[in-house]
Amino acid sequence: MLREVLRSVFKKPATNLYPAQKLEMAKDYRGKLIFHPEKCIGCKLCMKDCPTGAITINKIGEKKFEAVIDLGKCIYCGQCVDSCLKKALEVTKDVELAQLDIKKLKVVFGGESEDSSGKLAP
Ligand code: SF4
Ligand code: SF4
Repeated sequence: MLREVLRSVFKKPATNLYPAQKLEMAKDYRGKLIFHPEKCIGCKLCMKDCPTGAITINKIGEKKFEAVIDLGKCIYCGQCVDSCLKKALEVTKDVELAQLDIKKLKVVFGGESEDSSGKLAP
């Protein structure tokens, strides 16, 4: 028993020291979605195919669309990305999405904000 204890003390921990050490996500990992408004044609296939109703596409002008994504509802399945024929949606490896305020999980992409990280829904 003592030998086991001593061995454990000097062994490298099996766990990651997150967040001090950033996680290396696997290739093709599906994290936070981003939207490229300039590619979107407003077909809404992504909305129709989303199993949780996490994505909404709104028309905001002539051939201009915004995406509202509820990161709290999203299950990161990537179906919307596969369904989008225009490659207007993309998954990133961003997994640091925890929020204390649930409203901050609803993000608007496009519209006035051209920032690919999106802005909070009003
Ligand atoms: S499927 Fe693609 S092009 Fe169609 S509304 Fe969704 S994001 Fe836009
Ligand atoms: S990744 Fe899946 S759950 Fe999330 S918005 Fe796309 S289709 Fe919906």
